[in-house]
Amino acid sequence: MKKLMAANWKMYKTADQAGQTAQELSSLLGDAPEDREVLVFAPFTALHAVAQIFSGKAGYHLGGQDLYPADEGAFTGEISPAMLLAAGCDYALTGHSERRHVIGESDELVGQKTRFALEAGMNVVLCIGEKLEEREAGQLGAVLARQLATGLEGIPGDVSPNKLAVAYEPVWAIGTGKVAGPEEILDAHKQVREELEKLLPGSGKEIRILYGGSVKPANSGEIIGLDNVDGVLVGGASLQADSFQRIVTA
Ligand code: PEP
Repeated sequence: MKKLMAANWKMYKTADQAGQTAQELSSLLGDAPEDREVLVFAPFTALHAVAQIFSGKAGYHLGGQDLYPADEGAFTGEISPAMLLAAGCDYALTGHSERRHVIGESDELVGQKTRFALEAGMNVVLCIGEKLEEREAGQLGAVLARQLATGLEGIPGDVSPNKLAVAYEPVWAIGTGKVAGPEEILDAHKQVREELEKLLPGSGKEIRILYGGSVKPANSGEIIGLDNVDGVLVGGASLQADSFQRIVTA
């Protein structure tokens, strides 16, 4: 499968600014490289602007950074998969560490969102990852297994690898400048792969596992070459088009 090179623009950029970055990115890159897919998780208010720029470009995808697991209703401030699809998205992000640890989302809610988005016809990137104190307490494997089991509850064991990807993002490496070393990435991704093969016996072998946590142009080539690393999820270094373009082509 193609490597999935994803940008998370978090709560940065107005619609105009996002449109400008998307335009610069697509001018620098042209169509996505043959063996890569480009995915941008843009703020909700910028989705329309970015969708217009990506339209017609081969290998580009657009995603919402969150969703609410209902078709519609009295859920003030929330957004549904149907709204994301209509805004031009084909992907949704679930379980990002900032949603888990800043906003306070539970493992169960992350699982409901993941299942609902898939059932609504979206592709999903489910984020998982341990906090520093969990790693230091020897709980890496247990945290990954728990977040995967709850995050994937109710997902068919043969879900298409085109529909679902998992991003391993150690919380201590997100936005901190601290990158997990190659050994740490290899070890965590191997554990994620083993859990995926247990939970999704029909497709766990092929589900893409992305690494996220202070990825930048200088380290993305090495990271993307590691075993069981099928892409990256990039925050800070994706905000400038030239920096993200160098990551995508690394
Ligand atoms: C992220 O937001 O998912 C992320 C990995 O951020 P950063 O690249 O800034 O660490």
